[in-house]
Amino acid sequence: MRLPQLFKSQPFVLSIEIFPPKTADGDAALRRNLQTLIDYDPAFISCTYGAGGSTQDRTLQWCREIQSDFLRTAMSHFTCVGSTRDELLSWLDQAVAAGVENVMALRGDPPVGQEKFRTVEGGLSNANELVELIRQHHPNMGIGVAGYPEKHQEAATLESDLVNLKRKVDAGADAVFTQLFFVNDNFFAFRDRCTELGIEIPIVPGIMPITDFARIKRITSMCGTVFPDALATRLEAVKDDPQAQFEIGVEHAIQQCEELRAAGVPGIHFYALNKSDACQRILDATQLQ
Ligand SMILES: Cc1cc2nc3c(=O)[nH]c(=O)nc-3n(C[C@H](O)[C@H](O)[C@H](O)COP(=O)(O)OP(=O)(O)OC[C@H]3O[C@@H](n4cnc5c(N)ncnc54)[C@H](O)[C@@H]3O)c2cc1C
Repeated sequence: MRLPQLFKSQPFVLSIEIFPPKTADGDAALRRNLQTLIDYDPAFISCTYGAGGSTQDRTLQWCREIQSDFLRTAMSHFTCVGSTRDELLSWLDQAVAAGVENVMALRGDPPVGQEKFRTVEGGLSNANELVELIRQHHPNMGIGVAGYPEKHQEAATLESDLVNLKRKVDAGADAVFTQLFFVNDNFFAFRDRCTELGIEIPIVPGIMPITDFARIKRITSMCGTVFPDALATRLEAVKDDPQAQFEIGVEHAIQQCEELRAAGVPGIHFYALNKSDACQRILDATQLQ
């Protein structure tokens, strides 16, 4: 089912994001974890697209499996990195042939070792151009785009980043999925500004449960996510106790999800990092659906 129908047919759209594992053991573990999460009836599962398009084939393989074996709608992430317009179109044709009806259209990060994003000759520079390209060639494709409640790290200001988001929406996006955040008030302020700018499509908060403080610190430093001092202090105090970190992370995510749900969000997109235990605890403790 395509994104517009998904949001029309249910009041709350739960989605889970995975990435293609690098090993057969990783694949097997992901299959077990997905089986657990499917019981919570997610509306769709999205699969990331590795930096520089490094996982193109694996991304589509997983999307096929999500649809054929797990009987869920799949969304393939897709970036402009390192590809010409023709290569992007050829990948889109492959995605359509694989039965993919939804894509997360992204510019992508610069590949490792490259400081700034570089547009390849004959390629695209920003996600709004990718949305336009997809709409031109596959008018019925469901298209998600990224939104940044705390600003994209390269944007000069939150306002200029919002103008960019509006460009992606005007180019034909169907829904916005946000970067992970830990401070709900920042999401609410972002949502209010989106409304003022006339963005009317669903804005879905992205939640990453903290299960490993060191890993989360690495991720948040890369994407500039605000980490509340009180939460950091609590996690720092148990930095040698993985189970205690997990419990604090789950408790924080439950509070976030309950508050977001009460504030009427149209769904939650979980960055599950291929695991099921934290999402399972959060979904058991909350009445999201
Ligand atoms: C939900 C989600 C899923 C993601 N999945 C993946 C994935 O699978 N693979 C992956 O590699 N990365 C993924 N990312 C990360 C993403 O690729 C990076 O955040 C990347 O740096 C920006 O991508 P974008 O699509 O937001 O880019 P854009 O919307 O193009 O924005 C990039 C920057 O350029 C600015 N900008 C945009 N248009 C213009 C313009 N016309 N003029 C001037 N400035 C402009 C923006 O303000 C922003 O600072 C994901 C992010 C999110 C939030």
